[in-house]
Amino acid sequence: MNIEQIYKDANALLEGHFKLSSGNHSQFYLQSAKVLEDPKTAKLLAEELAKQIKESDIKVDAICSPALGGLIAGFALATALDVRFIFAERVDGDMTIRRGFEVKKGENYIICEDIITTAGSALEAAAQVEADGGNVVAFAALANRGFCKREGSNLEAKPNCKLPKETKLFALADFTFEMYDPSECPLCKDGSVAYKPGSRGN
Ligand code: ZN
Repeated sequence: MNIEQIYKDANALLEGHFKLSSGNHSQFYLQSAKVLEDPKTAKLLAEELAKQIKESDIKVDAICSPALGGLIAGFALATALDVRFIFAERVDGDMTIRRGFEVKKGENYIICEDIITTAGSALEAAAQVEADGGNVVAFAALANRGFCKREGSNLEAKPNCKLPKETKLFALADFTFEMYDPSECPLCKDGSVAYKPGSRGN
């Protein structure tokens, strides 16, 4: 399965001159929600991810996703694995599990995102599951931005990856593209102006 092509076809992998939330510039931007716009594609990607998880020796009871980004990917993965799905959400800045969701003691959870960058939100959701007595047995995402190491990839984790080294990350592909400090950005040097994705209605 050519994941990059699926993202391109869905206009989820944008090419241009982008100002990222870190302040750095990049020629590429992942608009991960776009790839899930077509439920058939969401199902296809989630089934591919579920296949990786089933092939490992991990036993899963439920999926937990940090809202908002991880909701669709997490739900689709839970459907493909035929397990429960819950989500964590920020309340006054703190990740919490509410809405009557119950984490049972000893249950095995996978924390699922649409895209893993440094995995801060995923780790906060994991902490909530563990605080309620659940076990976090793995992390999962459709796309890995290349800061963390995913199963089956030769790319090593970068120092800013927040995931614990001993816990597996399942993802379909690494999307590693160059980021530039604005003062050294070759696209700026060519005279174009970076824009923040979202500022043009995307
Ligand atoms: Zn630039």
